[in-house]
Amino acid sequence: MNYKIGCIAGDGIGPEITNEARKVLDAVGAKFGFGIEYTDILMGGCSIDVHGIPLTDEAIEAAKSQDAVLMGSIGGDAKVSPWYSLPPEKRPEAGLLGLRKALNLFANLRPSKLYSALKGACPLRSDAADRGFDILIMRELTGGLYFGERKTFEEGGLRTAIDTLKYNEEEIKRIAVKAFEIARKRKCKVTSVDKANVLDSSRLWRAVTEEVALGYKDVALEHMLVDNCAMQLVKDPAQFDVVLTENMFGDILSDEAAEITGSIGMLPSASLNETKFGLYEPSGGSAPDIAGRGIANPIAAILSAAMMLRFSLDLKDAAEAIENAVEKVLLDGIRTIDIMSEGMTEVGTSQMGDEIVRRI
Ligand code: NAD
Repeated sequence: MNYKIGCIAGDGIGPEITNEARKVLDAVGAKFGFGIEYTDILMGGCSIDVHGIPLTDEAIEAAKSQDAVLMGSIGGDAKVSPWYSLPPEKRPEAGLLGLRKALNLFANLRPSKLYSALKGACPLRSDAADRGFDILIMRELTGGLYFGERKTFEEGGLRTAIDTLKYNEEEIKRIAVKAFEIARKRKCKVTSVDKANVLDSSRLWRAVTEEVALGYKDVALEHMLVDNCAMQLVKDPAQFDVVLTENMFGDILSDEAAEITGSIGMLPSASLNETKFGLYEPSGGSAPDIAGRGIANPIAAILSAAMMLRFSLDLKDAAEAIENAVEKVLLDGIRTIDIMSEGMTEVGTSQMGDEIVRRI
């Protein structure tokens, strides 16, 4: 079987880390008997350099015709890069927002896992770190406060601003269904996070989530207020499996959940639509400060490729082979500089890719 994968290497460390992800994908393909045809797609700063805009219609069409898209990262250093003297809609980040919209990627998945070999990097109390955690934050990505009507005006002589938090039942239902489906493949628990003691949009969120739960009797559903969730994440993260929430709450909680791992450069992410299609990318950015030096950690990109195998291509065993190889590399003391600690062996980007391939 051959799969068609779009590859948006992007800017900064993007090309270096996607190169390693492709190396690992090819190795796992050889082991499990599938092939991958890559189509390179320009987006972000590198597209501005060639086409004057961060995302062309051709790039959107190319992405749409793939089984999935693997991305590195986009953007540069805003203080020095000429890309940032352009109007906001022509800057690199506008390309990613445009692609998410064009592909209707409404479900953002950000795993937050504490690797036993990296426990020392966890900023939480040792009893919480010792229990470990493996959380999947599922954030609604195309609705809510960030997409509602907004305006700034004057009222009674005072500058005043309004943002609107709006969801309809369909928007809530489709992401709730994704959360329950994915929880079924994990520990069968969904924590739906809202502010139902105050917000109407949250009360609808809660009601629709409960309706969806009726179809998933094997998955436990609990509701949690967002302020409590922010506390519980630092107090007892082991209690969570899938955390389902709206756009802004998810924006904040997913960064908190990433930070408690102590190694944000290790974390992958996925953005999915209603089909099996998804866009897979590291949670971090293009790290212009270290680009081109061969020292970036490629693990987030490699784990993004594993998520792609699991969620878009239904290749669970191949995904697990990558995840296990990453665990092994860490247990064997191999580290890039960002996760380096005393007594470990420091390697560069490409050597880390090779070491993971050796353990597939
Ligand atoms: P960043 O994540 O790129 O970098 C923050 C710090 O983490 C830097 O010190 C960097 O060296 C380090 N880092 C990040 N990834 C690393 C890796 N794989 N290995 C080792 N170290 C790593 O965040 P930033 O500096 O705020 O943003 C830089 C650029 O990235 C900006 O243009 C921003 O807009 C863009 N960005 C893009 C995405 C995306 O493509 N989805 C996401 C976030 C930021």
